[in-house]
Amino acid sequence: MPSATDPRALPEEVEVAIVGSGPAGLAAATRLRERGIASVAVLDREPAAGGIPRHCGHFPFGLREFHRLLRGPDYASRLVARAAAAGAAIHTGATVVGIAPGPRLLLSTAGGRGELAARRVLLATGVRETSRAARLIGGDRPLGVVSTGALQSLVYLGGKRPFRRPVILGTELVSFSALLTCRHAGIRPVAMVEANPRITARRFAAALPRLLGIPLHLETELVAIHGSPRVEGVTLQRADGSALEIEADGVVVTGAFTPEATLARLGHIALDAGSGGPAVDQHGRCSDGDFFAAGNILRPVETAGWSWQEGIAAGDALADSLAGRLPPAERLVKVVAANPAIKLALPQRLALPARPDGMTHLQLRLARAVRGRLVVRDAGGAVWQQPLDSLPERRLLVPLKGFIDRISGDTLTLSIVEQA
Ligand SMILES: Cc1cc2nc3c(=O)[nH]c(=O)nc-3n(C[C@H](O)[C@H](O)[C@H](O)COP(=O)(O)OP(=O)(O)OC[C@H]3O[C@@H](n4cnc5c(N)ncnc54)[C@H](O)[C@@H]3O)c2cc1C
Repeated sequence: MPSATDPRALPEEVEVAIVGSGPAGLAAATRLRERGIASVAVLDREPAAGGIPRHCGHFPFGLREFHRLLRGPDYASRLVARAAAAGAAIHTGATVVGIAPGPRLLLSTAGGRGELAARRVLLATGVRETSRAARLIGGDRPLGVVSTGALQSLVYLGGKRPFRRPVILGTELVSFSALLTCRHAGIRPVAMVEANPRITARRFAAALPRLLGIPLHLETELVAIHGSPRVEGVTLQRADGSALEIEADGVVVTGAFTPEATLARLGHIALDAGSGGPAVDQHGRCSDGDFFAAGNILRPVETAGWSWQEGIAAGDALADSLAGRLPPAERLVKVVAANPAIKLALPQRLALPARPDGMTHLQLRLARAVRGRLVVRDAGGAVWQQPLDSLPERRLLVPLKGFIDRISGDTLTLSIVEQA
């Protein structure tokens, strides 16, 4: 696999350029080659391909893709091997620093800058965790404050133990994965902290810190980090206003995912305020129809298997688009979330008349727990409705099959009738 230390080692022109070699990018690359697309280049800024699973040293990955349970790194290498065997060119050490109509990509490598022209581009750059700075945590700026991703890289790829007694901020699934990473490295967290009255992950996960003897502080905020040059402690604030000082030598700031959509934001691709990712139609087509998006860049956050599946669908859509079989929509229907409790909905528009392929569901996430009824309306009234009883950040799906062929008007509105 070529590491792009010199931009001249990269091709100048390909049929499809894929930014990101995670499950979505690699699945799309494999599919495109299987569909007979001659030149497919996957570009990744990391020194090795495979995306986030490369540093998730735990199970369970790979059930959908390989019908077996794998650890993240084994899963990532299998995806890379499959894409390479299919004939995709995978270039690591190549950061895409700009996109432009054409499409054109501006690349940065250790050897300098270069440009790549493509007939189509797939953005598959995944998600990242929200940083300590963006969460406005006060106090000092000591060493030893890391994201889960950085912790996993240090532990699983670097064989390092960055601290011994950290505090874990957050209770999403990834926060418990940080807990397991700590355990793997012989690190013993001193607390888990969550601002909400219950954990964000499914309830059974709360048993893990209990089993490991790690205090779980609910309805508590981490307001300040102290220490110089390294972390020495944190200040927590409970819902009743009281403060709690905890001695710790590190902080793992977990979750609060956001799509890695910097390229789209700096470029000419329209973003969706709800998801934070590019606005797409059911084929993953962006506002510039030569650009597509798949995987967790579309929304925070789904599993590797889900992202892989979206990559396969994007591969098919890109191949169809190159063959002129993905016609411009005769009619575009906007998907609008009319209730602030709906944090995001995608795809953000439907291209009609509908083809049998593409996304089969609208994907929704809630901003808070809601009980009531979810209603989808077009110009003629309700086209779909169902009881809703969901916590925030859970996957909610609305099947398109029942109504996509008979939508009237140019807007599909998602609303919630809440139970008193
Ligand atoms: C810390 C963390 C832990 C997670 N743990 C799990 C887990 O245990 N299980 C699970 O199912 N999911 C987990 N996830 C969710 C994860 O997003 C998915 O598993 C999956 O990796 C998404 O695949 P993807 O292809 O969309 O993106 P990614 O796997 O994130 O791949 C995106 C790739 O794009 C590259 N890239 C980004 N920008 C550029 C650029 N400008 N130029 C070149 N390359 C670029 C990145 O280097 C990366 O390799 C985790 C996510 C994070 C952040």
